Amino acid sequence: MKLHTKILLGLLAGAVTGVTVNLLTGGGPLTQRVISLVTEPVGKMWLSALIMIVIPLIISTLSLGVAGLGSLRRLGRIGIITIVSFLCLTAASAILGLTLMNFFQPGRSLDPAVKARLMETYKGQTAGAMGLSEGAFGIDLLVKIVPRNPLQAAANGDMLAVIFFALMIGVAITAIPAERAEPMVKFLDSLGHISVAIIHLVMKVAPIGVFCLIFSVTARFGFHLLINLLQYVLTVVGGLAIFQFIGYPLVLALVSKFPPLEFFRKIRIVMITAFSTSSSNATLPTTLQTSEERLGIPNEIGGFVLPLGATMNMNGTSLYEGATVLFLAQVFGVHLSLGTQVVVVLLAVLTAIGTAGVPGGSIPLMMMVLGMVGVPMEGIAIILGVDRILDMCRTTLNVTGDLVTATIVSRFEGVMLRPSPMAED
Ligand code: ASP
Repeated sequence: MKLHTKILLGLLAGAVTGVTVNLLTGGGPLTQRVISLVTEPVGKMWLSALIMIVIPLIISTLSLGVAGLGSLRRLGRIGIITIVSFLCLTAASAILGLTLMNFFQPGRSLDPAVKARLMETYKGQTAGAMGLSEGAFGIDLLVKIVPRNPLQAAANGDMLAVIFFALMIGVAITAIPAERAEPMVKFLDSLGHISVAIIHLVMKVAPIGVFCLIFSVTARFGFHLLINLLQYVLTVVGGLAIFQFIGYPLVLALVSKFPPLEFFRKIRIVMITAFSTSSSNATLPTTLQTSEERLGIPNEIGGFVLPLGATMNMNGTSLYEGATVLFLAQVFGVHLSLGTQVVVVLLAVLTAIGTAGVPGGSIPLMMMVLGMVGVPMEGIAIILGVDRILDMCRTTLNVTGDLVTATIVSRFEGVMLRPSPMAED
């Protein structure tokens, strides 16, 4: 059986058992114990094992990718195409999210009693996110891109800073004589291969990890919340689905000239991993491998675009942010003029760039946006209970968007994408 089929089975089994247990026990104390003592720790360990490889993988793939580009000119050209593509996709998705919310207006019909109950239930979690949001946005974000101490940046998980350092290593490799650079290139190449070997091992137990993660989410999930917020959830998920299955195929067909169905067939394992982990970072190893082995994207392009994308390109997150800010504005009766909504799009794009690729990474930044446009920040409590499900869906878009961008860059670089025969289904 193929790995992605096994992972999919793990996902389905986790969802079915989780929902059944939830319905039978109502998420009671015994269920909570099983989750917190068994499935959650196992799921977390698997997630950590994936994230553990991200730093060595970013350092090796990005610096070798940049070095492989050969010249600063080519780096500049690819850098510009990549950033423009990220920005266009992120802005387009935020606009779609806002448009759908304007059209369906689910916030207007939310029962005030439900609103009060949700705000009361999730008050504690909101306070936690509020703490994180302080100083999460602003000029500091820019300053922190250049790390004073790269090891500390890596330890703190400051991905943009790690990316900057890796970029500099790549640029420096091309700037010195080849025989001087050779030992470092060999070392980085070996580090990359070792990281990939570790990913293979970790992915072998993916079906178990995915089962545990999905079981923990569904067995504990407040399905009654879903009913109350159904219109909101459907609008967001509908928007994400439109972008995923209509938006990206259009871009693939018109810009990348890559057959969309073929694309989705090749990246199944990436979508499943993103959906089950809710983390672009945890999915990065799988994304890199799929890009090279299944889509045939050259290493130097994938190695540059994908680590950047996992941190900077979050199309699903910006759609979700735009939609949620407007939804909460509707709930609180705050009128957002067209001008303010344009500001929301800009802020959604900016915050999506700054969002960490981890589960719930966008929540603190979204609270900042709420505050900036005059919607009560504590209102986030209303949607926190359903956030994990939405996070799973938006993360799937986030990583798909990275791979779409890699195909766009390949096209502009004149690369004919032909998946290697070994990787055929
Ligand atoms: N979980 C998302 C990701 O890792 C970030 C977010 O929107 O919270 O891509």
